[in-house]
Amino acid sequence: MQRRDDRSPRALRAGSVSEAERIEGAAVFLDRDGTLIADRGPLLSPAALELLPGVPDALRRLAGVGYRLIVVTNQSAVGRGLLDLAGLERIHTALRDALAAEGAAIDGLYFCPDAPGPLGEPESPTGRRKPGTGMLVEAARDHALDLGRCFMIGDQARDTRAGQRAGCRASILLRTGQGESFAGCTNDFDLVCDDLPAAADWILAAGR
Ligand SMILES: [Mg+2]
Repeated sequence: MQRRDDRSPRALRAGSVSEAERIEGAAVFLDRDGTLIADRGPLLSPAALELLPGVPDALRRLAGVGYRLIVVTNQSAVGRGLLDLAGLERIHTALRDALAAEGAAIDGLYFCPDAPGPLGEPESPTGRRKPGTGMLVEAARDHALDLGRCFMIGDQARDTRAGQRAGCRASILLRTGQGESFAGCTNDFDLVCDDLPAAADWILAAGR
């Protein structure tokens, strides 16, 4: 097997990492709206999907050093009756297609259709809706992840809180999407980055 240190920058950029070279048990969890794609309210049609600048390249770079990429997204539009599961699937197919067109891919996508809790709590009774940890725990089981080696990236405190509660190595708030309004909630995240490319830079610099 080729040693990691011998791989060329070109190979890293291209994300051409074999299964054997994966960082064992490590993933980057990614919120969807405001993190990967523009957040203009509930996304109800694939036609309105728009990748944020630099996202495919950031994902390629993270995958290139061996991180699995797992999307974890609250989709209360389903629970509130604005969108059915077939419509959500069409949007997620469009997301994968848009990434593939730029040479990027995700390894898993978990969504929570629950509306917020009955008393207005951000969580839902199932524990899956962020800041609940359910989707991260499911992904850890499905992909044999060590949550302590994983990172969580999102644009809201509920994203980073989920990462903290799940025991992730670091939970990163982005200033994209709605992130600016949460940047003062300093107990809810470990660091703030301007956007996903900046967060990828930080993770890559942090090393294993
Ligand atoms: Mg978001």
